[in-house]
Order: sequence, then C-alpha cells, then structure tokens
Amino acid sequence: MLLEVDKFAALEAATFAGALPAVAVTAGAVAFAAGLAWGGLSYCALWPESQIFGETLIAPKRPGEIALTYDDGPNPAWTPQLLDILARQNIKATFFLIGSYAAREAALVRQMAAAGHVIGNHSWHHPNLALTGAARVRNELVRTKATIEGIIGKEVKLFRPPFGARRPEVLKIARSMGMTPVMWNCMTTDWSTTDPELIAKRLIAKVEKNWARGVAANVVLHDGSHLTPTAYRGPSITATKRIISQYKRTNNFVTVDGWM
Ligand SMILES: [Zn+2]
Repeated sequence: MLLEVDKFAALEAATFAGALPAVAVTAGAVAFAAGLAWGGLSYCALWPESQIFGETLIAPKRPGEIALTYDDGPNPAWTPQLLDILARQNIKATFFLIGSYAAREAALVRQMAAAGHVIGNHSWHHPNLALTGAARVRNELVRTKATIEGIIGKEVKLFRPPFGARRPEVLKIARSMGMTPVMWNCMTTDWSTTDPELIAKRLIAKVEKNWARGVAANVVLHDGSHLTPTAYRGPSITATKRIISQYKRTNNFVTVDGWM
C-alpha cells in the first residue's frame, strides 16, 4: 500500500503548489502548470471522495452508522482471528478480496460468507487500474467475480478499486458487470502503523468527523496485503477490537450493501 501513501503525498504537494501566487511564464512555470494538471488528474483518479471520474458509493446520510470494511485478504494468518472477533460481537463486515488469494483460500472465503459477511471484488492481482488497459481491467474483474461467486454461490455486487485508483472506464466496466464501485471515508495507514491504539484513535476521530458532517462512516482496514498473502496484520486486527468496543453500545455496525 506504499503506492497509495506516495500518491497522496504527491497530491498534497500539488495542492500546496496551487496555493502559491501566480508566476511569470517561464519553462519553470510550464512545468509547474503541468504539475498542477497532473495533480488534478491524480485527484480525480485517487482521492477517495472525488466523484469527477464517475460516481462511487461512499456513505449515505446516516450519521451513527459504521461499516467496517477489510481489503487485501483473505489472509490465512489473520483473517480467521478477525472472523472470530466479529462473530463474538455478532458484527457483520464487508470484505474486498483479491481474487488470486480467494482462489487459494476457498474454505476461508466460504467461512466468511457463511458467517454473513458481505464479499466484494478487489481485482485479481491488485494492479493500479487507473493505469491498466481496458482489456486487462475487464479480465481482472471478471476472473475475480467468477472465482468468488463459484466459491460462495452468491452474486458479487460490490467492487473496490485497488489503491482507490480508477478512471471513468474502470467504473463503467465494473458497473457493466453489475458491481457498484465502493470507496471509503475513514482510512489511516493501518498497514504500516505498528501501534493499534494509534490506528484506532485516528479512525475513531474520522468516524466522529463524518457523523458530525451528517454521513455514515465507511472505515477501511486491511486484513491482508497485496504484497504477500500472509502479511502481518496484528495491529489492524487489534484496532478492530478497540473500534468495536468504542461503538458496540450503539449497535449500528452495517454492511456496505445496505447502502446501495
Ligand atoms: Zn487493496
């Protein structure tokens, strides 16, 4: 997920540059303008809440609701522990699976579905789809959809683009397959932060911020990694426990499909 961080850092730098006063037209200024144009494109393609490259589902106007979503699994080292935690609290989550991992962990995927969790498509190999040709995009999504549906015997109706990266064609392809593209509004660097308390604290602050502005909270965490199928995800799983204990009394945990 490093790519995601780097791109967001680049986006922030571009946004900052946009706040500078106008400069004379020089070679530097031309490069500067090109940088801004790229910054704008990056915004459309990567910023989770941008709707410029096509509509995506983030969260409805239902403050108080919270959807826990997990990307980049199934991870045989950590997903089972996460499923235990969710089962103990009777909470249903939404999992966006990498197709090639799902194919290898069919029993785990079946267990997720049997427990009532919602399963979405996160592509076969987790490429940056904003930079991927249409034929391969289609292939990534078709293969993953067919594999998951073959395992759980249920239609896959949700799609989350890897890295959140998309362009209009990617969203169109997903929709043509009957899948709604889903982004998020609460994310932190849970894949690289080692302190679960810090992960939980940051996400809880974002949940509160979204509720305060009148929308539900769409929280993304990672039970896996596109870099390796058994990545260490202890902090993300412990942070989940902390977030659940914060909000369990409200009993307002929902799955993303209820927002369609
Ligand atoms: Zn991912």
